[in-house]
Amino acid sequence: MIEDSVIWLEEVGKEDIAIVGGKGASLGEMLRAELPVPPGFAVTAQAFRRFIDENGINDELFSSLEVDVDNADILRDAEKKAKKIIMGAKIPADMEKSIKSKYKELCKREKDEVFVAVRSSATAEDLPDASFAGQQDTFLNIRGEQNVLDAVKKCWASLYGARAIYYRVKQGFDHRKVNLCAVVQMMVDAEKAGVMFSSHPSTGEPVTIIEGAWGLGETVVSGSVSPDYYLVDKKSRNIKERKIATKNVMHTKDPKTGKTIDMPVPADKKNAKVLDDDEILKLVDFADVLEELYGIPQDIEWAIKNKEIFILQSRPITTIKKKKETKEKVATSAILEGLGASPGMAYGEAKLISDASELGKVKNGDILVAVMTTPDMVPAMKRAAAIVTDEGGLTCHAAIVSRELGCPAVVGTRKATELLSDGMMITVDGEKGLVFDGKKDVPAPVAMQPEKATISFSKSKPVTATEVKVNVSIPEATVRAVETQADGVGLLRIEHMILGLPKHPKQYIKEGKADEYVNELVSRIQIVVDAFYPKPVWVRTLDAPTDEFRAMEGGEGEPIEPNPMLGYRGIRRDLIDTEHFELEVRAFKELIKRGYNNMGIMIPLVQHPSELRRAKEFMRERGIDFGKTEIGIMVEIPAAALIIDQFIAEGLDFVSFGTNDLTQYTLAVDRNNEHVAHLYNELHPAIMKLIEHVIIECNKAGVKTSICGQAGSNPKVAKRLVELGITSISANIDAVEAVRDMVARTELQLLLKAAREKKS
Ligand code: PEP
Ligand code: MG
Repeated sequence: MIEDSVIWLEEVGKEDIAIVGGKGASLGEMLRAELPVPPGFAVTAQAFRRFIDENGINDELFSSLEVDVDNADILRDAEKKAKKIIMGAKIPADMEKSIKSKYKELCKREKDEVFVAVRSSATAEDLPDASFAGQQDTFLNIRGEQNVLDAVKKCWASLYGARAIYYRVKQGFDHRKVNLCAVVQMMVDAEKAGVMFSSHPSTGEPVTIIEGAWGLGETVVSGSVSPDYYLVDKKSRNIKERKIATKNVMHTKDPKTGKTIDMPVPADKKNAKVLDDDEILKLVDFADVLEELYGIPQDIEWAIKNKEIFILQSRPITTIKKKKETKEKVATSAILEGLGASPGMAYGEAKLISDASELGKVKNGDILVAVMTTPDMVPAMKRAAAIVTDEGGLTCHAAIVSRELGCPAVVGTRKATELLSDGMMITVDGEKGLVFDGKKDVPAPVAMQPEKATISFSKSKPVTATEVKVNVSIPEATVRAVETQADGVGLLRIEHMILGLPKHPKQYIKEGKADEYVNELVSRIQIVVDAFYPKPVWVRTLDAPTDEFRAMEGGEGEPIEPNPMLGYRGIRRDLIDTEHFELEVRAFKELIKRGYNNMGIMIPLVQHPSELRRAKEFMRERGIDFGKTEIGIMVEIPAAALIIDQFIAEGLDFVSFGTNDLTQYTLAVDRNNEHVAHLYNELHPAIMKLIEHVIIECNKAGVKTSICGQAGSNPKVAKRLVELGITSISANIDAVEAVRDMVARTELQLLLKAAREKKS
């Protein structure tokens, strides 16, 4: 047994999980086998224990964790308290000295003050093999003795993050018996990096699968980029598949500050392949060596710098099904019923996700099951063959995103997370809203393809006088949206783009990184306005529900509201939080400067003409010329529909019916509440009456009318709206074709009717 608190990685091996956790032990084992692992040292689990004991913080720390973890606010308070206790305690002097001297030695070996990664490697005293992967934090690009010491403490503190506390309680682990080893390892300034599976991760077939992207591997591990995909036959060494994705962002070291930042991938590299054949085959060799070393298939993280390959981590693949488990049942009757939110059928293994830390569980072709999806789950939603949720209606996050991804989904089942369990084979019918136990006769499960680089038009389309547009919420859906051959984008929801960022807008502002935030907005909106150019794209200003934004890093300041749907969102929010509105306007101006004169600006959730007036003034004062840029409002609140003439008087180019909200506000039915979903009726005569009134008034005034709520995707509604004289209809990607056919047919019917009437 090793007694030292701080030890070199090469001094440990796979038998030392209790000392350095699974990650540390595996790194040591690989170094012993002379694999190219970046050098480093470990501040052991016992060192962490000693830190707690010598500071005398045992009782204070662990009693702060005895809380109701199902209450998010209480849990967050417990996290704050526990982390404060750790950060306020002192690292014992001898330990501090050892950490400093090991770091110095590392610098000496490398002849430079090196950048290191400080990674968490947790271990349970009684169950050293328990996996806590992804629960704790990693700190990248740390340099300097003091910064290393701070990062070690932050690593320790991350053992008491809300996610980690929740996980341990739910899994029955005693907080007092879980320790954390901090692994301090030299950073590889990777030009490219990713993951690989030494055998097929679900079937165990003898193929090596490699995923890679530009920059550090975190983007691939977290799923924030679509990586390239390579599949190699282990025996013949044939590279059987290469899918080259469009890679928009890379995680890299800022040469000026040394901090890790997200950067747009240079244009010439976006669609370029990350790995050449030589690199692919060398990686396969390492995969073979690692599988041999550990005796079982491995899930490996790798990086490449100056053609040199580094292995950053290797752990067993836990998802391979044993033969007897693959004997699937044939599905008969449905076990769950909900709302069919995105059409299509698929089967696969259920994977229950309680928060973003578990996204890694969802492999290509699995069925993602969650209480409700959140924006940080989008990378896993892309891999999923289908999605099932407990909560939500047809316009909830899961429904909107799965339709954009073309992924079957059933929402509002009430008890999917209760009835289904990890690994259970299920079939999802996203049309009928049913979930079956076992495998039904449907096409083989297909995972979402990496973002396609090329656009293909498969069908000729009828020409319609009423424009048929498409809604877009996530930039990843742009290619599919363009392929619909829509006449433009009738709604681009920017909040989904913001929710996809690593942190809350306020956090960017707090860190003095407002410019970075504006750049993010610009680059994401640009993907859509560029792909559709010169067709119009109506970009909606922020419509952020506080409950969703609160979950983001730095989102603690979001107000807690009894009913967020009636609360601080839409334009009322921007008119109060002008600091954020300002940044949106900066992004719009930059896009206009870049020549995107096809962009229009749409204001959500207006209830009084003064809101439109103030919003226009704000933007005008900051240089937006409404003679050149179209401006419009969403009609989502009955008040706006009833006094539409007063809005027109303020100066408007267009209005768009947001029937998702218009329905909930007119009928007093929460759109996300599955308990009242039976009352949610977009075709209610009261709603049709409001719409009719607005179309008549706008047509009189020469203001364009459109619809971007879910009702516009219903061909029957489209028919009625064309009859009423609407200018355009914006539908979901999957509905554009059917809506366009209906619009064309209705227009012909109207012409025929008029011709007949003229004759008689
Ligand atoms: C609507 O309310 O119909 C709409 C399109 O906006 P959102 O669904 O984003 O609230
Ligand atoms: Mg709305």
